Amino acid sequence: MKRAVYPGSFDPVTFGHLDVIRRASEMFDILIVSVLDNKAKTPLFSVEERVKILKDATWHLGSNVQVDSFSGLLINYAAENDIHVAVRGLRAITDFEYELQIAQTNRKLSLGKLDTVFLTTSLEYAYLSSSSVKEIASFGGDISQCVPDFVAKMIYEKYHI
Ligand code: ADP
Repeated sequence: MKRAVYPGSFDPVTFGHLDVIRRASEMFDILIVSVLDNKAKTPLFSVEERVKILKDATWHLGSNVQVDSFSGLLINYAAENDIHVAVRGLRAITDFEYELQIAQTNRKLSLGKLDTVFLTTSLEYAYLSSSSVKEIASFGGDISQCVPDFVAKMIYEKYHI
């Protein structure tokens, strides 16, 4: 069984993430989308909320997509779950330097046991990021092109809009 993890903040999940999830789920027997509990960031949604949103947004993809959360080092989480591949999305060249450094660090720290596979974004989602979605929504802007409707509603509620 080929298992992979797609780690990220997913605060909240966007159509860009969902595109990567769908495509990666066709490449692996099990894709575990795992929400990183990053103490360094103040998220809009709690880890529990993000997990629930991801479950609701991916249920139609079937049982080979699972949703989980983790804290600490990705390599430890991967080792505990017998996962040897991490999936990440690449939007623009600006993602590249950051992602390259993380991927190489993870490979080194895991003694070669965790490799990273990159999926390039579909062009229609290249501009999308969770932070821009939150910024647009906080000013009452239209985010219907960016996230599923139920997610948009939850974001507006957070901003009391
Ligand atoms: P992180 O805080 O770990 O960067 P994100 O939730 O912002 O978490 O992103 C998780 C992963 O999804 C990253 O690899 C990021 O590059 C990728 N990603 C984010 N937005 C998009 C998008 N619109 N298209 C493709 N990949 C994306």
